Amino acid sequence: MEPTVSIDKEALESEEAAEPPLLTCFGSSRSRAFLQQFYPDVTLAEWNDWRWQLNNSITDVQALSRFITLSPTECRSPDIHPRNLPLRITPYYASLLDTSDPDHSLRRSVIPTSAEYVFSPDESRDPLCEDDHSPVPGLVHRYPDRVLFLVTGDCSTFCRYCTRSRMVGKRDNASNNPSRWSAAIDYIQAHTEVRDVLISGGDPLTLADDVLESIIQRLRRIRHVEMIRIGTKIPVTLPQRITASLVLMLKKYHPLWMSIHVTHPEELTPECETACARLADAGIPLGSQTVMLKGVNDNIASLKALMHGLIRFRIKPYYLFQCDPIPGSSHFRTPVSKGLEMIQGLRGHTSGYAVPTFAIDAPGGGGKIPLLPEYVIGRDENGLILRNYEGKIFCYPDKG
Ligand SMILES: *Cc1c(COP(=O)(O)O)cnc(C)c1O
Repeated sequence: MEPTVSIDKEALESEEAAEPPLLTCFGSSRSRAFLQQFYPDVTLAEWNDWRWQLNNSITDVQALSRFITLSPTECRSPDIHPRNLPLRITPYYASLLDTSDPDHSLRRSVIPTSAEYVFSPDESRDPLCEDDHSPVPGLVHRYPDRVLFLVTGDCSTFCRYCTRSRMVGKRDNASNNPSRWSAAIDYIQAHTEVRDVLISGGDPLTLADDVLESIIQRLRRIRHVEMIRIGTKIPVTLPQRITASLVLMLKKYHPLWMSIHVTHPEELTPECETACARLADAGIPLGSQTVMLKGVNDNIASLKALMHGLIRFRIKPYYLFQCDPIPGSSHFRTPVSKGLEMIQGLRGHTSGYAVPTFAIDAPGGGGKIPLLPEYVIGRDENGLILRNYEGKIFCYPDKG
């Protein structure tokens, strides 16, 4: 018999069907208990379908209060939010939130509070001046050899400290637009100095596989684009999105790297582990980015546990960022000295691979500026005087 289209389709479907580990790996006992309690009519297969998660994401305070006893400061509706940053949390991520403690780390990072309405004069909607460094809409060209390509304003879950809250979660979602993508890709094509394209947003992995593939494919066809990277929080907020078919698609476009936004060790669940294992097994080098947040992760025990967890998940801790001064962020912002203290508590005390670079993305558009604790004490006639991780003093015979 002639092979028919339907046979090909069957083959494709069986590839999808060859994902039963999904049911077990993406259904931890915690998820199952949450499902039983709050979604008794929903099957585990639906729960594990990323589209179900997106379609059923929690977008108002009333829906949220079904799972969580909200505190008086959490109840303010974000409808009239000054940054228009809406509320959105996937049911999966909601299952990680403590139902009674308003100071719970993950809860503070995604549930709006009245503190978001407290402004200080040093804050700004676009502190990194990305819009000023944007040669075409959705593209930020700040460094000589690489660009930031903002392909969508959509996210699975909105972090309350989002540096792009000025553009994410808009109803019109102007950045999610094929003609904008084409203009950005034409710019990259015309600029032969661009050897690295960082696809971000919003979250690029909220796009459908074929849409994302068309973007990556067009970038890959550009000879001078050596490296493509995707910035995402999806493995943390919606690990179900990391399907076998997604990674099969992504691995066709190597070298493709991924930067995963993580905040706290409690995000490193079995589901997240499965998602990261799929990505790492597809040969995608994984890096992390974490924002220092007051009362969320600003202590060495949490950060060390996070960095160790990342290493176990085969994610190289890449950046630890000082929180950007977006409007209504003062309750999240730690002093810069706190970040330095965290690096001091990591470097030397644990694997060098587990130590990220602490950086401030300079307000005004100066780019990322790395900061280190003071390891160089000074100089004398013998050379350079250095301080090691234990605070002991050493001299290197540097006579230059
Ligand atoms: C962060 C960023 C990059 C990438 O910086 P790396 O230090 O290479 O990771 C590129 N462009 C813009 C505008 C950025 O904000």
